[in-house]
Amino acid sequence: MLHLLRPDIKLNNIYELTGELLEAMNVTVLIADLDNTIAKYEHETPNDDVCKWAEDLAAHGVSLAIVSNNCRERVEKFCKPLGIVHFWKSGKPSRKTIRKAMQELGGTKETTALIGDKIVTDIIGAKRSGILAIKVPPLGKRRMFE
Ligand SMILES: [Mg+2]
Repeated sequence: MLHLLRPDIKLNNIYELTGELLEAMNVTVLIADLDNTIAKYEHETPNDDVCKWAEDLAAHGVSLAIVSNNCRERVEKFCKPLGIVHFWKSGKPSRKTIRKAMQELGGTKETTALIGDKIVTDIIGAKRSGILAIKVPPLGKRRMFE
């Protein structure tokens, strides 16, 4: 059980996870949590840094998908400018949506990683799915419903 709680990699923020690094690790699919990982709750659309980060991943052949437990409205609004695959109400730590995202982007367990701020949803979800689990500290305050 304890191994499910332990991230494989800990980073300070998403920007440390560059396209170059992912390419070197043979990761072609990156599943990212949205709230407090990519953006704070109050940020409805991606800022320039997030857009540049997504472009850098794409330039290195990494497909990015957002898998969020938040609602459709929130996730769609944020992902639309990025033009990336996204899933709402994903039910993490369930494997179902993580697996779906991985398959849709053509990844395997060996070539897919998940980055998120929460152990009980993101890290456990990634570990149960058998993919690389990367933890970042939350960008903002937690919410009760998380
Ligand atoms: Mg989060």
